[in-house]
Amino acid sequence: MRRLILLAVLLLAFVGMPVFAADRLEEQVSEIEALAVTAHWRESNARIEALASQADALSTGQRQRIEYVRLRNLALAGQLTEAMEGLAALLEQEMPAALRIRIYGTATSVAANIEDWSRAFTWLNEGLSYLPEAPEQSHTLLGTASYLHTLVGETEKARDMALRAVQAVEARDDPRGLCVALSEMALAEDHAGNFRAAEAWRRRQIEACTHAGDPVFTAVGRYGVAKMAAKQGRHDEAWGWARQALAEFEAAGYAAGAWSTRLVLAESLIVSNRDLDHARALLLDTLRYYREHESNLAIAETEHLLARLAERRGDPATALAHLKQAMSASAAAEADARARRLTYLQVEFDTRMKEQQIALLEAERELAALQVTATQRRQWLLILGIAGLLITALLLSGLLRRSFRERRRYRWQSERDSLTRLYNYQQVRKLGEAAFARARAGGRPFSAIVADIDLFKQVNDSHGHAAGDEALRSLGAWIGEVVGERGIAGRSGGDEFTILLDADAAEAGTLLQRLRDRIEPITVFGQTFGFNISAGVCQDDGGTATLEQLIHDADQALYRAKRDGRGRVVCANDAAAAASAPAASLVVVGSGIEFGRHVNERCLSEIREAQVVFCLTDPFALAMIQNFRPDAINLGAYYADGKDRRQTYREIDAAIMAQLRDGKRVCAVFYGHPGVFADVPHAVVRKARAEGIPARMEPGISAEACLYADLGIDPGRRGVQSMEATHFLHYDRVPDTCGLVLLWQVALSGDLSCSRFHAEREGLQALVDKLLRWYPADHEVILYEAARLPIETARLERLALRDVPDARYEEYTTLVILPLGELRGDPAAQGPGTAPADDPPG
Ligand code: GH3
Ligand code: MG
Repeated sequence: MRRLILLAVLLLAFVGMPVFAADRLEEQVSEIEALAVTAHWRESNARIEALASQADALSTGQRQRIEYVRLRNLALAGQLTEAMEGLAALLEQEMPAALRIRIYGTATSVAANIEDWSRAFTWLNEGLSYLPEAPEQSHTLLGTASYLHTLVGETEKARDMALRAVQAVEARDDPRGLCVALSEMALAEDHAGNFRAAEAWRRRQIEACTHAGDPVFTAVGRYGVAKMAAKQGRHDEAWGWARQALAEFEAAGYAAGAWSTRLVLAESLIVSNRDLDHARALLLDTLRYYREHESNLAIAETEHLLARLAERRGDPATALAHLKQAMSASAAAEADARARRLTYLQVEFDTRMKEQQIALLEAERELAALQVTATQRRQWLLILGIAGLLITALLLSGLLRRSFRERRRYRWQSERDSLTRLYNYQQVRKLGEAAFARARAGGRPFSAIVADIDLFKQVNDSHGHAAGDEALRSLGAWIGEVVGERGIAGRSGGDEFTILLDADAAEAGTLLQRLRDRIEPITVFGQTFGFNISAGVCQDDGGTATLEQLIHDADQALYRAKRDGRGRVVCANDAAAAASAPAASLVVVGSGIEFGRHVNERCLSEIREAQVVFCLTDPFALAMIQNFRPDAINLGAYYADGKDRRQTYREIDAAIMAQLRDGKRVCAVFYGHPGVFADVPHAVVRKARAEGIPARMEPGISAEACLYADLGIDPGRRGVQSMEATHFLHYDRVPDTCGLVLLWQVALSGDLSCSRFHAEREGLQALVDKLLRWYPADHEVILYEAARLPIETARLERLALRDVPDARYEEYTTLVILPLGELRGDPAAQGPGTAPADDPPG
């Protein structure tokens, strides 16, 4: 039985050979393969011998294909051992996977045939590993694999492989392959005990094999149906199928199939208790055949049937004898099966071991590769990290260097004068304070020089501002050269330079001489011009309070140098210079209404140069003046609420005169214009002059000047009548209603005591009542207050005359009464021409 199936498997290897006709040789090789397929293997051998003379012309692949057919034919001829060795040698060679799989299939079958299970399972496993490379050949090997697995009791695996073989052939148009694969499938189900399923596969097999034109496998199919019918107790049906199968086997001369079928026929006869003699004859013949072939399983089956026959005949002794034979054959078959299974397990174990080892080696290789990658990655990361750090460090150091440079630049810019590159005013003071303190502490002489270009405005005017700049730059460079490390030199502003030296006045004079020698004509835009300087020097005589005072005294000396004709150096400590200075003098200047905007250079210069400065200004102007003249005396201190202002004026007058009489050069600063609505300035100027002291008044910007600007009124159009409100109220004054009338300090109207600073309704009402004599009650008037700070705006409040008493007032609010009515021509006026244009203001 087993051999029947093995031979069938062997035939399978010849299925589906492609025929190539590329050339004659290839045609011949293909024909040899095709002959083998159609079982004309003897003829194919003859062809192989015929081709031997052309062996050298064959390619390696062709030689391998022919050698395979030759070895297969050798196996069919019964020389199984030689065939197996030949196939083993052939498998050592390199070849395409498809051919290799076919050789593995045949080699496995041959090894199984001679029960070399170790080789059979080893080759099977090796062959299966090539299936993915040539799936079109997989059914041949899968069929063999299924069969071998049924032999070792691995029924599930056997079914699985057979099914894969069927599916593989179904996917291709291969009727003969399908016929064989279905046979394997039925066999696997049979071994698994699934008789119904096995029968169904057998029926499909008959159909497929008939279609493929394979009588032997068709007969195998019928035999299979018969066997499965018998297993399911349908013995009559089994008899019919078996009869047909036997006839076909005998016709095809396939003995193995015929003997197996006879067993089915005998069993049918025994079960149906008919023609028992015929059954016995069948069984005895069959037993002889199987004994010859030492097929233990088949012997056991035959002996079993003989025992059952003897039982039917009521011959227990014979039945017992056959049963004993059956048991001994079964035991031998089981021993074979155990050996087979053991070999199978051993091979499986070895294969698994090998696979595990391979997997282990592969895992190790992967691990090693991963380690290499990881190491490389680490190295890269390290390199990247170091590179990153280096770049960061470079960037940081670059940024730091830049930031240091920037900081140095900003510091330099904040300390220097951009034009001359000398120190600026603030830095000279800052460095000077420390140097002055050190010199004081060390008991060393310390001097200040203030130098200024003579008539520098003319340089600008004659040669242009750029030439003026060049002159300043050159002078700065020469000062830097001459002073070097010996002192602190800076530009105080404009064309004035300050030099502070750790030296006495004589050394300062020498240095100045060197500077004046160094000054040379300069050429700008083709024009050459020269300039000179004047300078004031002052040495700290121990009595100088501050550096500021020292510089101030040097500045005073410069002033004298200028006054004495320029181009010279005057030393403040010089007794002669001091003697040349005039004794007492008075200058009265105006601070303007908004000091920052209205004060002029002249006024500032007077304030700087005076020995004593008095101030009667608003607090902001006072603070600004005290900034550069900290010794300025605030005259506001003489005022007090309720105090008679005339008393205050007397005290101020006395304070100024006292300084003048003490021989001091006095500068008195008054709010606005010093000579407008101000008694004291005029009075002190008069008194000073009366005492032979030079006195003068410098004009300032008055509130009236601001009023014209803010109201947009030109006083020249209709004329202006401007007087103090109390004065108007008190005296018989007639307002010129055709022109502008300004009444100052309306808040203090009627205050004859001169002691209040706030508005009183009575006084204001009296003022309005008087004005109603000339103006209607609804006549428009303006309350005006000039702005005193840049953040303020002027007050321009328009209202009707009658509402004046109820308005809000400051001490300095001015009442502006706009012109009333048209201008009338003077009948007495003579001459042609028209009257001046009447342009009503407001
Ligand atoms: P004095 O002999 O009395 O000093 O006469 P002065 O013309 O030099 O008068 P003063 O020193 O008061 O004038 C300084 C002038 O310097 C005023 C201004 O035109 C000019 N000035 C100030 N700063 C610069 C500057 O940066 N560049 C130029 N080109 N001129 C300047
Ligand atoms: Mg000058």
